[in-house]
Amino acid sequence: MTELVAHRPVRVRAAPSPTGAAHVGNAYIALFNLAFARRHGGHFVMRIEDTDRARSRKKYEERLYAGWRWLGLHWDEGPDVGGNVGPYRQSERSEIYHEHARQLMDAGHAYYSFITPEELAAWRDKGQREGEPAPYEAERDADPVMAQARAKSGEVSVIRMKSPREGTCVFTDAFRGEIRIGYDQVDDQVLLKSDGFPTYHLAVVVDDHLMGITHVIRGEDWIPSTPKHMLLYEHFGWEAPMHAHLPLLLNPDGTKMSKRRNPTSIDYYRRAGYLPQTMLNYMALMAYPPAPSTNNAGDGEEKFSFDNFVERFELENVNLGGSVFDLDKLSWLNGRYLREELSEKQLGEALRHWALNDEYIGRILPLMQSRMETLGDFMPHCSFFFARSVDPKIEDLVPKKREASEVAKVLQTAVWSLECVEPWSRDAVEVALRRIAEFWDWPIRDVTRPMYSAVMGQPVGPPLYESIVLLELDLTRTRLLAAMETLGGVSKKKARGLEKDWNGSGSRRSGVS
Ligand code: GLU
Repeated sequence: MTELVAHRPVRVRAAPSPTGAAHVGNAYIALFNLAFARRHGGHFVMRIEDTDRARSRKKYEERLYAGWRWLGLHWDEGPDVGGNVGPYRQSERSEIYHEHARQLMDAGHAYYSFITPEELAAWRDKGQREGEPAPYEAERDADPVMAQARAKSGEVSVIRMKSPREGTCVFTDAFRGEIRIGYDQVDDQVLLKSDGFPTYHLAVVVDDHLMGITHVIRGEDWIPSTPKHMLLYEHFGWEAPMHAHLPLLLNPDGTKMSKRRNPTSIDYYRRAGYLPQTMLNYMALMAYPPAPSTNNAGDGEEKFSFDNFVERFELENVNLGGSVFDLDKLSWLNGRYLREELSEKQLGEALRHWALNDEYIGRILPLMQSRMETLGDFMPHCSFFFARSVDPKIEDLVPKKREASEVAKVLQTAVWSLECVEPWSRDAVEVALRRIAEFWDWPIRDVTRPMYSAVMGQPVGPPLYESIVLLELDLTRTRLLAAMETLGGVSKKKARGLEKDWNGSGSRRSGVS
């Protein structure tokens, strides 16, 4: 154990990118970092990795803060709480990355590259075709003074790192021991992009070092990139932190957990009525053994608190086998919390905190006022606003003269169309649904009818667009995906073809294939 925490004080970080809804997978990584920090009296840092300018949004950053706070993942330093080694938002650290890129250039470890991604792909294709795939070398040894002059004159350029052409990178992963990756697998990674922003690889190494991070606990999808990071540590002459790669969360079928299959956003779980303590407990179980059994049965107690997790947390006990995120099991565990951990009074408070409050009901009232004869009509007509899921009937989902398989595809396009809605408003939702009707050349009512049933579980109800706005994207998407399954689903292959058409054209007037 001592070797894994030889550095004191422990400083760990979670570094989410604000490019979408706050993902359970990021929260799970953050939880393990937080538990490790708490176990060793260290610090947990939140860093916002927003160098992908096209996809990063302030609103997603806000959602990360809200989602993590709801879960109880409290950070000691971060963009919104400050700290001694900020700024903690990468978009505010440009100068630092430029300075470090310059150092690498001066030392001959990096070079200007003017080749476009298309040219590079063509070069690789040609190599493959001719049976002699070779790395592109032309720019590595170009005269740096000339290259700098070209870049200064405004020619579009990036800065790449020179990777060794032979040999093997050997590094230690705290969970897996020694990992060896041949440098022939490591390309000349772009460090600074043409927009002047760093890539993840440069920024992560520079920041982890300057922020005094002692342990990098992150997802195992970063293992193949680690040699690039080790090279950077070497070039800068810095000691690398201990690296530990956690298994990724999986769907029950073994595929990587993705919103195309399962809800992945923290908001979904909050809205569907899971308790934050269940979420933390379940996320811990994803890669950590249950607590010792309290009843001599010897099976281990799967329900445990965050404090109990922290008390027991040792890096060497982390499980690397299948982290299957199973909704049924999560719901079972949540039921145990509701029954065993909450008093009736606390249950009432939890319900009020969740949705039975003036704020949420106040947003539903305008949709319901003209649709009631007595107050007793309120709940039955809008219970779907308070439901974890709804259960639409096939005959309500399929309009006359349409096929179930067609409607499933229409709902698939509805998911994609709604995912692009911005800002999330009634009018924008209407435009998104009209776009679907146009794409399929269907009357709008043939689109809205299945939508009503899919999101409300009933073919009539309060206005559809407003209701979707209130349910928000995550709950809506999950209901649309569930309705698609009820209709027999859309195969992966068909979805791929459909997605191409959807992205490529405004219409599919030729009909449904
Ligand atoms: N921004 C990266 C991500 O969201 C962080 C990975 C890391 O922890 O180094 O996956």
